[in-house]
Amino acid sequence: MNTAQYLNALDILAIEYPKWNAPIVTLIAQRTNDPYMVLISTILSLRTKDETTAKSSQRLFALARTPREMVALCPETIEELIYPVGFYRNKAAQILAISRRLIDEFDGVVPNDLDTLMTFNGVGRKTANLVLSLGFGLPSVCVDTHVHRISNRFGFVRTKTPEETEMAIRRKVQMDRWSGINDLLVAFGQTLCKPISPFCSACFVAHLCKRVGVEKSR
Ligand code: SF4
Repeated sequence: MNTAQYLNALDILAIEYPKWNAPIVTLIAQRTNDPYMVLISTILSLRTKDETTAKSSQRLFALARTPREMVALCPETIEELIYPVGFYRNKAAQILAISRRLIDEFDGVVPNDLDTLMTFNGVGRKTANLVLSLGFGLPSVCVDTHVHRISNRFGFVRTKTPEETEMAIRRKVQMDRWSGINDLLVAFGQTLCKPISPFCSACFVAHLCKRVGVEKSR
């Protein structure tokens, strides 16, 4: 698949996208327009189902929507509010540490550059890129497991890690298309192009896809 076909596939998926469930962090970004809440909900979403992240975020943000409100909570309260997200104890500690550092070093404001974001405890490339695109509206390629898997299945990239996929997409795709990729491919990956046995017979972009590595499909 070449770049024109990749963009064509994204355009086709964009038509179907409103029928699918948008990723929870996207919904939170649309509702709040707040980089801090995007950052915290992204951390909650790691290794956690969207339904669980949605409920946990709602409970947490009902009590704390800013770093200063967050540090007023004790770790046990945050743990209780976010349970049962994966690694909830670690995440509660990370959320508190991030909030304290934001207050101490950034006047409570989330920084808008990748390198600084990645110096925060628990913030990797995926989280930092998502905060830039959803929280700040900056061009950013956020590659999670869905974007990595589907871009390889398409035959658009041939990469071993999400980071390699990110670099390949940055090279091959024009910057003004970067930020929409994550939303579309996450929703598509949760609905049709599932990790095990994708629904190829019902796929809107099957005519473009090379189905690299797909051994079993429906
Ligand atoms: S044809 Fe199958 S593998 Fe290719 S994008 Fe569609 S669902 Fe995924």
